[in-house]
Formats: sequence, C-alpha cells, structure tokens
Amino acid sequence: MMQQFGNYIAGEFRTSVDSNSNINPSDTSDIVGQYARATEQDVEDAIAAAAIAQDQWSQSTPQQRHDILDFVGNEILARKEELGRLLAREEGKTLPEGIGEAARAGQIFKFFAGEALRLTGDHLASVRPGVEVDVTREALGTVGIITPWNFPIAIPAWKIAPALCYGNTVVFKPADLVPGCAWAIAEILSRSGLPTGVFNLVMGRGSVVGEKIVTDRRIDGVTFTGSVATGSQIAAKCAARMAKFQMEMGGKNPLVVLDDADLDIAVDCAVNGAFFSTGQRCTASSRLIVTEGIHDRFVDAVIGKLQGLKVDDALAEGTHIGPVVDERQLTQDLDYINIAKAEGATLAFGGDRLERSKDGFYLQPALFTETENGMRINQEEVFGPVASVVKAKDYEQALYLANDTEFGLSSGICTTSLKYARHYKANAKAGMVMVNLPTAGVDYHVPFGGRKGSSFGSREQGRYAAEFFTTVKTAYTFG
Ligand code: NAD
Repeated sequence: MMQQFGNYIAGEFRTSVDSNSNINPSDTSDIVGQYARATEQDVEDAIAAAAIAQDQWSQSTPQQRHDILDFVGNEILARKEELGRLLAREEGKTLPEGIGEAARAGQIFKFFAGEALRLTGDHLASVRPGVEVDVTREALGTVGIITPWNFPIAIPAWKIAPALCYGNTVVFKPADLVPGCAWAIAEILSRSGLPTGVFNLVMGRGSVVGEKIVTDRRIDGVTFTGSVATGSQIAAKCAARMAKFQMEMGGKNPLVVLDDADLDIAVDCAVNGAFFSTGQRCTASSRLIVTEGIHDRFVDAVIGKLQGLKVDDALAEGTHIGPVVDERQLTQDLDYINIAKAEGATLAFGGDRLERSKDGFYLQPALFTETENGMRINQEEVFGPVASVVKAKDYEQALYLANDTEFGLSSGICTTSLKYARHYKANAKAGMVMVNLPTAGVDYHVPFGGRKGSSFGSREQGRYAAEFFTTVKTAYTFG
C-alpha cells in the first residue's frame, strides 16, 4: 500500500478515506503518488481554521510576511530541478519546461516577498476644514483558490503568494490531476513559519471540495483559473452571495503573420506558441492568421519544423513535446481534429495518436490549413497541440479576424513594420499583446489576464494583484 499524501488543514497533514492515484501521462504504469481526496468535513475544517486565523494574520507585520514568502521562494528555486521533474512527471510538460515553471513559481514568491514591504496608501486633505483622509488597503479576508491542471506550480504560486502577501488566509484546491506540486508547496509552507490555519490545502473533486469553497459564506473571495464552463458556474454562485471573484478562463489566441514578417521569427513564434507545453496553455496560439503573400512559405516552414519535433516521454532527453495530460483530454483533442476535418479544413500535418515505448497519451501535433475563422476549430478552445491557419487578404482583414472571437486573452503579431505593430497593440481586443513574440510566455512581475470571455475581474500578478486580494478603506479624522 502506497503512502498517502494528506491534505494540510489547521497546521496538520491529514489523510483521508478517499484518495486519488496521480498517474504519469508519459507512462500510465507509473503512479506518482497516492493523494488524499478531502471530504466535506475536511473542507469545513479548513475553512474554519482559515477564518479563525484571519484576524491575527491580517495584523502580521510586513517583515513577517516578507520573510515567509522569501523562505518559500528560495526553497522552490533551490529545488527547481526536483520540483520541475515532479511537474513533468505528473502533468506531461517536458523536463526543461517543468524546471522553468518551477523557477517561475519561486520568483513569484520572491516578488511578493518584496511587495509585502511596499504596500502604500494615500493621505489626502479633506474638502472639509480640519478633516484628513486616509485611503488604505486591507486584506480581503479568507480566500478560496481553485486552480487548473496545466500550470501545476506557477498558477498556485501566483495566487497563494499575493493572497498571503496582503494578509489573507487561504483555502487552496488544486486540480485533481496534479496534486503533487500543490502538496509540495503546502509542505514548504508548513515549514515557513506561517501561523496555524493561515494556509490550508484541500485536494479533491471540484464537485465536493470546490463547491463547498465557492458557497461557504466565510470565504470572502474566490480566485479561479480553469475552463469557461466551470468559471461561469462559480461566478454565478459567488455573485449570488456577493463574494468577490476573479476568473481566468479560456483562450483562442490569434497570431497574425504579415507579409513583411521575418519568416524565421514568425515560424518560431507559431510553433512555440501553438505546440509547446503540448498546446495546453490558455495563451496558446491556436489561430494562425496569415496574409496571402507569405502564407505558402509560412505553412511549408511550420510543417518543416513540426517534422523535426520529437513527441515522447516528458522526462526523456531531447523530447520537444510531451504527452497530453490524460485520456479525456486526448479524446477531446481527437474529437476536434475530426470536427475540423468534417468542417472542410485540410489536415496539413499530424493529428494521429502515437505509440511510444511506454503507454501514454501521445498525440502528433496537428496543423490545419484552408480554414475559415467561423469554423468551430477556430472558435472553441481545444486545449491541445492543434492549430489552424486562416488566410487573410491584408493587415486590416487579419486584425478583424484576430478580434473576431468570444475570447480575448493574448493576441500576437509578427511584422517588421512599426506602423502595423503600433496599430495592432492599440487595436487588438485582448488583455495581452505580443509583437514578434509567441502569444504564450509572460513575465511574472507584470499583470496577466484577458478580456471578453477569457477573464473576469481584476488582473493577476505584479502589483495589480493587490486589486483582488485587498479591499480599500477610506478613513476620515477630525481633530
Ligand atoms: P476546469 O474548469 O475543469 O477545472 C479547474 C478547477 O476547477 C479544478 O481545480 C477543478 O477541480 C475545479 N472545479 C471543477 N468543477 C468545480 C465546481 N463545480 N466548483 C468549484 N470548482 C470546480 O479546468 P481544467 O481542465 O483544470 O483546466 C483547463 C482550462 O483552464 C482551460 O480552459 C484553460 O484555458 C484554462 N486556463 C486558463 C488560464 C488563464 O489564466 N486564463 C490559465 C490556465 C488554464
């Protein structure tokens, strides 16, 4: 019987009657570990502990918060290779991608360690004589953190670090598919000097653990990253009880390639943005909108690059693209490939399930050409290594097509023209715009988030994170 990794509730690791086998998608015979699935009572206890700890933690000094966050950041950075390996093993990103993500998580904790010392407010003269006004930011309270499987350490880090930085207590529920990195963060936090109850980990199902977090009145705010379907349900439940919420959801991100683009840069941006991390990024460039003059050269060069990519075990040396995360996601990817074919798109490369020496969820990257922007393959998020090319007459049509989507997370353009780059930055209807860069891949110290169907609420990361994790108080003093 494998040892069970327990939930972290009220300062203690607690096993559960129910548990979850964390399976390596590169090799389904490899069980990463057995992780507890929280019961409703566990979640109740976690929320109670976080609510009790709230007052005291909100009064903690900036130095105390700095030191704890800095400790966590340093340890993650020091262990980035080991944590990156765990990440690659449970999620299927390649080892270099896993290590890169672990490093980013460490940097995020260190960034917020610094932010703990930099919280500011305003002091103003009142419009009334003898009165002064102070505007300060206070902790929101007890927050629920619900995360998806595709960034198992970075997304938890970019929610947990600011939550603690601004004096909130936390009940954290990671995705059921990737409890390993979440548990590792909890274990580090358990040794960081954080008072009992300030941080709690409850692993398990959305319908049990997530539902309780979202509906419990002691949870003052919910920060969620995941699918549009789940996000919409959570938003409605939070709104019904007037809890603050922040939603980061799907994308159908365009990469525009203009005739004047540097072909090598454009191809690198497309291949990296669309297919790396197995295309399982909310910022993936799933729509490649290419103007007529460069279209054929671009498509040939992308196919040339795809032919050279090795799809294999995430931990194997030289792998460019790891497996899809699980059977369900693989089925979804294959379904969309069939939908695109049925819609009349041309499958120009890949799209087959692959056999490798170990049993895993391997999919050859798929590139569609001759697609129309209105097709489902160009309007719905696939969340796999699948991209499609849409031909555009000129820049104006390319911009129109790029914006013609329900989503608005990241939007990119490859061009050597300053005029078009400037115009695109100003007119792309997205939260993030990239010029001669992949749509995926962002810095950790600046805001992250989208518009339209992709996001709701204030931005995450950088100092903008304070918008969600704090509430503003205006104090008047006379005399
Ligand atoms: P998901 O919506 O299925 O699950 C996300 C989280 O919500 C999980 O922890 C899940 O257990 C939980 N959950 C499920 N049902 C719930 C319920 N009823 N109540 C409360 N919680 C519930 O998403 P996923 O499959 O884990 O992740 C993939 C999705 O995440 C994609 O759509 C992707 O675009 C999106 N994503 C968005 C961003 C972004 O920042 N915009 C970043 C990464 C991933």
